[in-house]
Amino acid sequence: MCFLLTFHILLIVKRINLLFMNRSGGGDDMADKEFELNDVVEMKKQHPCGENRWKIIRMGMDIRIKCEGCGHSVMLPRKRFEQKMKRVLVKAGA
Ligand SMILES: [Zn+2]
Repeated sequence: MCFLLTFHILLIVKRINLLFMNRSGGGDDMADKEFELNDVVEMKKQHPCGENRWKIIRMGMDIRIKCEGCGHSVMLPRKRFEQKMKRVLVKAGA
């Protein structure tokens, strides 16, 4: 009886740890990838022109970003953009 109870408690503790880890990990990702219209962002891959500053000029189902170096603009589905974006350099509001 005693052994079974200990086993049960271990399982519950394990489950709580898993829940906690999942929640904190997901939260951090979201905070890093917050962006809005007119923000300047850095992508994982720089533009062939050598610049790696992109301004968000349109937001919707698709996101249009414009290279700050040569003015070339690219349209990406939101999901692709989130995968390729590294970080926000300049917030539009600031
Ligand atoms: Zn460029």
